[in-house]
Amino acid sequence: FKDVAGMDEAKQEIMEFVKFLKDPGYFERLGAKIPKGAVLSGPPGTGKTLLAKATAGEAGVPFLSVSGSEFVEMFVGVGSSRVRDLFANAKKNAPCIIFIDEIDAIGKARGKGGQFGGNDERESTLNQLLVEMDGFSAREHVVVLAGTNRPDVLDPALLRPGRFDRHIAIDLPDIKGRVDIFKVHLEVIKTDENKEEIAKRLAALTPGFSGADVANVCNEAALIGARYEAKTVVLAHFEAAIERVIAGLEKKSRVLSPEEKNIVAHHEAGHAVAGWFLEHAHPLLKVSIIPRGAGALGYAQYLPKEKYLQSTAEMLDMMCMTLGGRVSEQIFFNSITTGAQDDLQKVTKSAYAQVATYGMTKALGNVSFGRVDQQEQSFQKPYSETTAEMM
Ligand code: ADP
Repeated sequence: FKDVAGMDEAKQEIMEFVKFLKDPGYFERLGAKIPKGAVLSGPPGTGKTLLAKATAGEAGVPFLSVSGSEFVEMFVGVGSSRVRDLFANAKKNAPCIIFIDEIDAIGKARGKGGQFGGNDERESTLNQLLVEMDGFSAREHVVVLAGTNRPDVLDPALLRPGRFDRHIAIDLPDIKGRVDIFKVHLEVIKTDENKEEIAKRLAALTPGFSGADVANVCNEAALIGARYEAKTVVLAHFEAAIERVIAGLEKKSRVLSPEEKNIVAHHEAGHAVAGWFLEHAHPLLKVSIIPRGAGALGYAQYLPKEKYLQSTAEMLDMMCMTLGGRVSEQIFFNSITTGAQDDLQKVTKSAYAQVATYGMTKALGNVSFGRVDQQEQSFQKPYSETTAEMM
């Protein structure tokens, strides 16, 4: 567990399984049954696999790891026979932990999404999994952990007590979590800087990063240091690494003409100036006109606040700031370019969400029609033609 930083609640919850596996008698003497499984859910890279592995390590039991997609095959019956083999194997090695990564590949709610040429094979695989989880008794001391980043699509039958009793949600780390994760991954990095200080500083610069992103920043910093033939990794390398992870690699080879550079500079400055004067916009950290990654000619790096609610004023200010680039082009060159496409997309998405999801407009009132991106997939709108026109 010492390699798993942060996520204290999740660790506490999973620590119970360790106790169960180490000393089942302690619980069974009071008549308790050992829980059979837990679903670890959270965004990619938040350390679900890591936590499951750590649990096995901590309990000192074998760890059988499979991915949900391994069960899905062209051939009928292969999936369920693999599930049977897996559990037979686990019983032989009990006490042990089975870890099924990406369980949504087989655990999708049955009957849904089947309308486009059903997938009986997946269903029978899932059924076999349900049967197996019911079949082994709590006395066998096999714990099944499953990882997914889409807990909402899982079949309710999987989540009922007696199968995956526990649901452990793992969120993106907050600033304190990131400090801890940085500390873990800085351990192997050779640097003369004070690691404690560096961890704090980098954590402040990386809101919204997952544990895997943090690990990636540390590794990239060392790679960048090596590329410049440095003796140790210095702060500048870490900062370059963060930029690299956020925006992609610098494209030194892509040469912009002076005119284009001028336009990009005015565009990015438009964001910066608008953001500076808008009260609720995220603070700006840096603007750059060095092309990076796929297609981006320049970019602005913001420092979003560590918070979960957004007010209408904030969303409007963010929209203004995002449009600042396009407006600046208009003011200074009296013409507009294709460079604002990404900005326009963001603004449109935010506007849709404010009207249709967050009930932030007077005309439509306090209603929410679900997420816009999910609506696009269905053929029917949950509102009338008149409402659609008003929106
Ligand atoms: P997931 O299964 O959630 O997609 P992983 O468990 O595979 O993510 O995590 C990927 C990598 O990210 C890990 O190998 C580890 O290096 C790093 N990582 C993620 N979360 C943490 C954490 N809390 N502490 C330390 N490292 C972490």
